[in-house]
Order: sequence, then C-alpha cells, then structure tokens
Amino acid sequence: MTKGNINVSVENIFPLIKKFLYSDHEIFLRELISNATDATLKLKHLTNIGEAKTEYGNPRIEVKIDQENKKIHIKDQGIGMTGAEVEKYINQVAFSGAEEFLEKYKDSAKDAGIIGHFGLGFYSAFMVAEKVEILTKSYKDEPAVRWTCDGSPEFTLEETTDKTDRGTEITLHIAEDSTEFLEESRIRELLLKYNKFMPVPIQFGTRQEVLPLPEDAPEDAVAETKEVENIINNPNPAWTKAPADLKDEDYLNFYRELYPMQFEDPLFHIHLNVDYPFNLTGILFFPKIANNLNIEKDKIQLYQNQVFVTDEVKGIVPDFLMLLRGVIDSPDIPLNVSRSYLQADGAVKKISSYITKKVADKMASLINENREDYEQKWNDIKIVIEYGMISEEKFYEKSDKFALYPTVDGKFRLWNELIEKIQPNQTDKDGNTIILYASDEHAQHSYVQTAKDKGYEVLLLDSPLVPHLIQKLETTKEKIRFARVDADHINNLIKKDEPVISKLNETEKETLKKSVEEGISDTTFTVQLEDLDSAEAPFIITQPEFMRRMKDMQATGGGGMFGMGGFPEMYNLVVNTNSSLAEKILKTEDTGEKTAQIQHALDLAKLSQNLLKGKELTAFIQRSYEGLSK
Ligand code: ADP
Repeated sequence: MTKGNINVSVENIFPLIKKFLYSDHEIFLRELISNATDATLKLKHLTNIGEAKTEYGNPRIEVKIDQENKKIHIKDQGIGMTGAEVEKYINQVAFSGAEEFLEKYKDSAKDAGIIGHFGLGFYSAFMVAEKVEILTKSYKDEPAVRWTCDGSPEFTLEETTDKTDRGTEITLHIAEDSTEFLEESRIRELLLKYNKFMPVPIQFGTRQEVLPLPEDAPEDAVAETKEVENIINNPNPAWTKAPADLKDEDYLNFYRELYPMQFEDPLFHIHLNVDYPFNLTGILFFPKIANNLNIEKDKIQLYQNQVFVTDEVKGIVPDFLMLLRGVIDSPDIPLNVSRSYLQADGAVKKISSYITKKVADKMASLINENREDYEQKWNDIKIVIEYGMISEEKFYEKSDKFALYPTVDGKFRLWNELIEKIQPNQTDKDGNTIILYASDEHAQHSYVQTAKDKGYEVLLLDSPLVPHLIQKLETTKEKIRFARVDADHINNLIKKDEPVISKLNETEKETLKKSVEEGISDTTFTVQLEDLDSAEAPFIITQPEFMRRMKDMQATGGGGMFGMGGFPEMYNLVVNTNSSLAEKILKTEDTGEKTAQIQHALDLAKLSQNLLKGKELTAFIQRSYEGLSK
C-alpha cells in the first residue's frame, strides 16, 4: 500500500471549498455523474476505434444510497483507472485543479454574481463527504486499486482484488452536516434536476412494472407487477436529434417531459442547431403567455453536453425571449465566470444574436406556412414579438415579415398591407401619413365609428408596449405618424370632407368660448372651437397625443422615463360651433341655466369617453332623473 501526501500548497483546501460554495453543495452529484459519463463515453470511443479490446455492451451508471452506513455509491462501467492513473488524475490533476480554482476565485468569493456552476470536478465530493473511496479497475489488463482520502492532503492507494469488473465505483462517506443527501427523495430530485437528459442511462432505485397479460387471460384478470431497475434519465432527448427525424408530436412529448407540471401545450417550437462558429443545439417553445402563472418557474434550461447547468440564462438568451421555454445545449458557454463577464463575452453575444435571428426566421416561415394559424396565435405571442422589435435591432429589421397589426375589425395586417390601405388624404398638415389606432375599442367607440365611416382603417393596439413600439416605428419608417382616434391633431381627418360654413360670427364665437370656459370651471380642459358638421356631437373631448403618449410610456417604464414625475391629465374640449347646443348656450340669458347646460353637456362628453366617475357620475344621474320628472 502507498501512503502519501498530495502536493498542494494550501494545507487543507477542502474546508475552504466547502465554506466557499456553501449553497452549491448539491452539485457534487452532477460532477461525479459527469465523470462517470465521460469515462463511459471514452470507453465507447476506444472500442469504436479498436483501441480497447473489450465488449462495450450496454453500460449504465448506478447510484445507490446506503442509509445504514451513511454512504452513497456511484458506480460506472467506463474505462476505469490504473494505479498510476489514479496517482496522476486524482492526486495531481484533480487536486491541482482544486488549488487553481481557489486561487482564481478567492477574491471574488463575495461577488454574488459568480455563477455557481464551476467545473469543480472530483473534489467537490468533499463538500458532502468526510471520506471518499475510489475503487477502480482499468479496461487495460491491470489490477484494481483502492484509493481513500479524508479531505486532508493525505491519501492511501493500494492494489485490491475486491473488484474484478471494469469501471469505477466512488463511495462517499457522508459527513454529519450533509445527511440530507442520504434521503432517497433528495437524490432523486438532484438526478432529475441535473441528469435527466444525460447520455448514459442512470439507474437509481426500482420501480414496479406491469407485466403484460397472457393472450388467453380471462377478462377480469389482474395484471401482475414486477420490481425492475429504474432508469431515471432519457439518454436521447429530442434536441440531440435531427429536426428531420422529429414530428410535431415528438416536440410536444419532449415539452411535457421537460415541464411535467405544464398542462397547456406550447404554441410552437424552434429547433436550434448550429456548429459554426460555435456549437449550440436546443429547442425553444413559445408558451401561451396570457394568464400564465408559471412564468417564473419553468424557464429555459441551459445544458452542457446534456448536463443541466442552470436556468438562469440572462445574457445568453436575449431579454425578449426570456418568456420562452425549452433547452439550450452548448459546450461553448463559459460557466465559471461572473455574470457581468458573461454578458460582455464575445461568444455569448454571438449565441444571443444567433438565437434572435433564428427566432425571426422561424416567425417569418410560420406566417408563410399557415397565416390563419399564426393570426390566431398572435395575441399570445405579440408581447414577445413587440418586445423584441423594441429591444433588438436585428429582430426589428426583419419584423416587417412577421409582425402583425390587428384592426378593430379583427383583421391582421402586415406592415406593407397596412400601408396599402391608407387613404390618399390620410395625412397631417406636415404631409406625414397618419395611421389611426384605438387602444380601447369600447372607450373610444364613437371615434372609431367616425373614422370607419370615413373609410379609414383603425388598428387595435392594446398591448402595454404599444407606446414604445409606435415610437420605434415613427423614428424608423419614413414619414409615418400614429394617432389615436381621439387625438386632437387629427380633427381634419375626422371632419366631413365638404367645407362647413360656420353659423356663428367671430364675436359670437368669442362669447361662446368665454361662457364655456366659465361654465366648466375645470382647468384640465382647454376649450377649442371647431366648425364641425351640425350632425356631429356638440362637445367632443380629445387628448393631446404627445402628452398622452408620455404618460403611457411612463406607465410601462420604458425609454428612460422612470421617475420623471407624473404628467398632468390634459384634455381638449372641442365645442362644435355649428351644433344646436352651441346656439342654445349663446341665446340663454340666465347665467345659472347656461352653466347647467354647459356642465350637463360636458358630463355627456365625459361619459362617452368613460371619464365620468364617482361623485360626478352620481350627481349626473341624479340631475338627469330630476330633469326627466320636470
Ligand atoms: P475533470 O473531469 O474536469 O478532468 P476531475 O477532477 O473531475 O476533473 O477528474 C480528474 C480526472 O480523473 C478526470 O479527468 C479523469 O481522467 C479521472 N476520473 C475521474 N472520475 C473518473 C471515473 N469515474 N472513471 C475514470 N476516470 C475518472
């Protein structure tokens, strides 16, 4: 037997590692199973190229808990190690790795931004074990060896006849403070979290399998069950296969496998597959976002060669796709770095822009393949698409191909289709094309109706990102302006085409304006006189488009508008000088009666805009009833 000292400069590195990575102790299992997987795949390779003269068979990895003796066993049928290899790979490689790791991260220990997914390797076993044993036999014709270490730099290494079959068995003597890992449920949870899609079958525990009934069994026969070994993982998940080999059903099944608690199917999927200039595979799913309670929980998962790493994918996936679900697998994402570094990393940036481009292309092909289906899903995906248009230039540039603009009549227009529908006179005084929209079909009903009567198409843009999207479109599309149907500067569009001759002369107008201003005694309204058709409403409330948009932007927090203080409510009260009410107000001598007329008319205008509320509404109703009974 050999006894020795591991050559490390730090007297005892394990307590340090243990303390340092306190919250991440659970990753020991992932690391040890990764090693077991590597050892198995290496053997596969060696047998493939004829280097290893042994039968590869159907190797698996076995995880076993021995509660009584407080041990966990992880056993593989991989290449194993000779005594010399244990010396080299465990005593030297693994331990120098540990030292290097400490050296690198000791200063950043307080940096909460460090991602806890270091390639900690074999020595992470000491985070949970007070003693670790390796029993291993190489595929080469050499005796098996046993190595033990209690976490100090001292180890023992001896030849043994205890193991005759090829492979490695790691035994962890679980430390007093880590007994949670002796619970079957805890280990199962970890295996499902980190190893669910690893490429070598992992056996853990047993399960009951229902045996098939014999052909001639009577109808009331009860099937027998048998206890069988339980394989916990799916070694061939959908994302590792070629898209051509998968049907829609396979993607759906994979989604359900990934998120067993999601009962609603995704809207569609995007299969990612790239090998240059970086390696990346994966499948992204668009979930139904409306009313979704699991947005926080079921996130995109990041894997490295089928090993789960994290579901914190910020930086790797562009922000606007954070609401998607699915899997990304890439060996090229650096994991043992801080978050700020990750976001600045060139490879990571490329991955992020590849994903953006791929999603844009997929959207374009989806709408081409089945426009009707795409339109039906639009309301569920628009938030993601609109957010992408606002935040990712590359995505925005392609968006004319797939961004839809719904109308109040339930039609969906692509940008060029929308432009085709524009009426020749649909311009403002500066010659910009005006696109009319409503944000609330019911509240703005009367305006929508007027616009439609005049042959204009009105969009229904009701998502919270619309103010930002509009700003983006206005600054990038040539001579385009959006105006909500109740905006003040589009009076010329809403007015009847033939000129209306004013019924009032200038002095009368001045008197009328003054009377209304005094009558409404409300500073949120600016009184404006307009010669509208006599059939139009006498009082119309409009809003200055600019002010309203500022308020909307502030509400959704974009564009650096946070904390700019509340914008005041501001409205215009447009008085139609050709209405009979205008004439009536002018002719009324009694000031009390005149004020009553003006206030009642203002209330009606407010009512049509859903602005009459609370005390005002109660008073209005009471007043109206009194009027009826007079
Ligand atoms: P890494 O896996 O990153 O190389 P580790 O510290 O996890 O670092 O392991 C060090 C080395 O020990 C591995 O590279 C491998 O050669 C050897 N090793 C670890 N576990 C096994 C195993 N189960 N079977 C065979 N060799 C192993």
